[in-house]
Amino acid sequence: DLRMYQSKARMLGRLGNEAVGVDTLRLETELRGAAGRGELRVHYQPQFDLGTDRIVGVEALVRWAHPEIGMISPATFIPLAEESGLIREVGAFVLGEALRVGAGWHAVGFPIDVAVNVSVAQLSDPEFLPQLKGVLADSRFPAASLTIELTESQVVTDHTVIAGLLRELRGLGVAISIDDFGTGFSSLAQLQRMPVTEIKIDQAFTAELTSTSTSPFVSGIVGLGRGLALRVIAEGVETDEQLQALRRAGCDRAQGYLLGRPTDAATILHRLKESA
Ligand code: C2E
Ligand code: MG
Ligand code: MG
Ligand code: MG
Repeated sequence: DLRMYQSKARMLGRLGNEAVGVDTLRLETELRGAAGRGELRVHYQPQFDLGTDRIVGVEALVRWAHPEIGMISPATFIPLAEESGLIREVGAFVLGEALRVGAGWHAVGFPIDVAVNVSVAQLSDPEFLPQLKGVLADSRFPAASLTIELTESQVVTDHTVIAGLLRELRGLGVAISIDDFGTGFSSLAQLQRMPVTEIKIDQAFTAELTSTSTSPFVSGIVGLGRGLALRVIAEGVETDEQLQALRRAGCDRAQGYLLGRPTDAATILHRLKESA
């Protein structure tokens, strides 16, 4: 992760005036075919059930191992992929890889959930649903163990178009999580129209939690989840105090550096075996 931040910082350092166009163009050009050249990696971050303290899922997070720049964060290249249409290629790779790997864990006795981030640009592509059905069939990964994460800010902007697509996903049995919840300003009316199954508390709210304070935002989101019968997960858990506060608030699941950094599939399998 340190290397990733360094490469990101290096790139940002060059994002001055004219250099922006050049670097963006270079990255966009090189991103084309990156999956085919084996430069994209999927890392997995464990998600814990706060009732059983066991790993019940993972979130798939893509990385780009650029041959010259080094590890590039998805925060840098996903926006480029969305603008250029390359998100279709990147997204197909992540989905294929994550479900293949997930099916492998299931096959050796660890039937955990796999969450995959999908942007609205991907979801609204007419090829997305057929592609997803194909990957589910090929990998034999059960649809009910797949969670699609969509950020709240994106859902708010395009909510009328998206609600229908999400209903189709739900029809397949796929779970739907609203990522970065609490930062996108969705109204309760909008949320009610969305067939979601989980809300994911943004790490900014998790960061506010201390041993003494109970964040009204976190209690509020957990209460909302309870009321709507939605699963509530918190991201960005870095300290034991935050974890305890989430337990007290009644949060269902937690994810963060304290519990495990995003890592490769082999390391996840090792952890699953260790805790079995
Ligand atoms: P996200 O989905 O909200 O993912 C959480 C981000 O927080 C990840 O950054 C993760 O590594 C980081 N994180 C996890 N635990 C902690 C913690 O305890 N503390 C802190 N400070 N950070 C933590 P990452 O991997 O750089 O991903 C950034 C964003 O890129 C993701 O945010 C997601 O929106 C997007 N992304 C990642 N992979 C994909 C993908 O395959 N497709 C799409 N469309 N977007 C993706
Ligand atoms: Mg996410
Ligand atoms: Mg998030
Ligand atoms: Mg976030």
